[in-house]
Amino acid sequence: MMEDSYKHQGMRRQLIATLKQKGIKDEKVLDVMGRIPRHYFFENAFLSHAYEDKAFPIGSGQTISQPYTVAFMTQLLHTKPGDKVLEIGTGSGYQAAVLCALGVDIYSIEYVKALHLSAADLLGQMGYRPKLFWGDGSKGLAAEAPYKGIIVTAGAPAVPQLLLEQLEIGGRLVIPVGNSKSQEMHRYTRVSASKVEKEVFSNFSFVPLKGKHGWSE
Ligand code: SAM
Repeated sequence: MMEDSYKHQGMRRQLIATLKQKGIKDEKVLDVMGRIPRHYFFENAFLSHAYEDKAFPIGSGQTISQPYTVAFMTQLLHTKPGDKVLEIGTGSGYQAAVLCALGVDIYSIEYVKALHLSAADLLGQMGYRPKLFWGDGSKGLAAEAPYKGIIVTAGAPAVPQLLLEQLEIGGRLVIPVGNSKSQEMHRYTRVSASKVEKEVFSNFSFVPLKGKHGWSE
């Protein structure tokens, strides 16, 4: 495990100040992001950039999301400790660590085996115990449904119906939807067995969601 020096902690405080300036208000989200060493999730080549508010490569053509995006989506998910949440796109494991630190019961699925294995190793070393799966998350994870929250950290061409079906009543799905360059952030809230409400937020740019209900490869 790398060290978490005073220098890292100082850079993290700066990053949290930036997130506040950009409009993130949820103090619990800011608090956990202020405590998790983001540099642990980085490849050596990019280590010096770990506290910039930017996305960076994590291998296999994928990225660790921009901190602002992680904070924005986590804020929209609006979790409470003990909530059962499904993440689609484990990637580096950083978003899963944020949710674990918020006390969420997290299930996270990743399409790329090498990323699934390295996230499992790192999160275990950090003392987090998310339930991690390797496979196609575009169809959700029906075996463990329903969920209080579902967070999709890759850009989808449309909202997979199966994900809406795996939300419990009161549950929220946060998902970027759009084309390959830009996606709107959508939040769907299941208000009853037959009704889902949709809200649309600003634009982001994600790597594509692959698999059966994502972009064809
Ligand atoms: N949440 C990640 C983090 O904190 O580092 C960011 C992930 S990156 C922006 C998106 C991830 O979604 C990639 O690791 C990619 O392999 C994964 N992905 C894409 N399509 C997927 C699918 N159908 N099922 C599961 N994971 C998928």
